[in-house]
Amino acid sequence: MENIDYPQYGFTRDALLKKIASQMSQKRFTHVLGVEKAALTLAKKNNCDLTKASLAALTHDYAKERSDADFLAMIDKKKLDPDLKNWNNNIWHGMVGQYFVAEELGIEDPEILKAIAVHTTGDQKMSTLAKILYVADYIEENRHFPGVEKARQVAAENLDAAVAFETQHTLLYLMENKKSIYPLALATYNAYVAKP
Ligand code: GDP
Ligand code: FE
Ligand code: FE
Repeated sequence: MENIDYPQYGFTRDALLKKIASQMSQKRFTHVLGVEKAALTLAKKNNCDLTKASLAALTHDYAKERSDADFLAMIDKKKLDPDLKNWNNNIWHGMVGQYFVAEELGIEDPEILKAIAVHTTGDQKMSTLAKILYVADYIEENRHFPGVEKARQVAAENLDAAVAFETQHTLLYLMENKKSIYPLALATYNAYVAKP
C-alpha cells in the first residue's frame, strides 16, 4: 500500500518494488501485489505487524525465476540439507529463496525470512505472519481455481481454518497428480488438518 514505507530497512517502497519487478514477469509481479493486499487485510484482522506482512508478501516469490544452478549453488554456499537437491524450483524458491532475499534485498528479520521459507509448504508450527503469507498467497485476487472463493470465505473467518483448508486441498491436488510431497507439507497436514 502506498502509505507503507520501510525507513528502518534503509530503502524506500519505490526502490524495493523496482528491484522485485526486475526479477520477474509482469504477471508474477501482479501476483505479488495481490498477495500484499490480501496479507494486509489478514494482518489487520489477526493483529500482525503490517510492515512485516507487506515485506514478506512483496518478497515471497523474489527468487522464483532464478535458475536451478543458482539454487544449487546457494544450497552449497549455505550448507543446507543436501536432500534439498532432490527437489525443484517449487520447493527451492521459498526454502532457499529466503537467502537471496536476505543477501540481495537486505531483509534480515528472521520472522520474515522464515515466513518466506515456508510459504509453499507450511510448517508444523507457524507464526501468525507465516500463516498470513501462506494463506494470502493462495487467496489473492488474481488466483482463479475451483475452491478459491471458499478459501477466501474461510480466511475471512479464521486464519487457522484457512491454513487447514489450503493444506488439505494442496495435498489432495498433489496426490491426484502423483506429485511428490515435501515432508514439511505432510507435517503441516498432520498439525493443521488431521485428527488422530
Ligand atoms: P506460487 O509460487 O505463488 O506459484 O505458489 P506456491 O509457492 O504456494 O507454490 C508453488 C508450487 O509448488 C505450486 O505448484 C504448488 O502446487 C507446489 N507445491 C506445494 N507443495 C508441494 C509439495 O509438497 N511438493 C511438490 N512437488 N510441490 C508442491
Ligand atoms: Fe511461491
Ligand atoms: Fe506466490
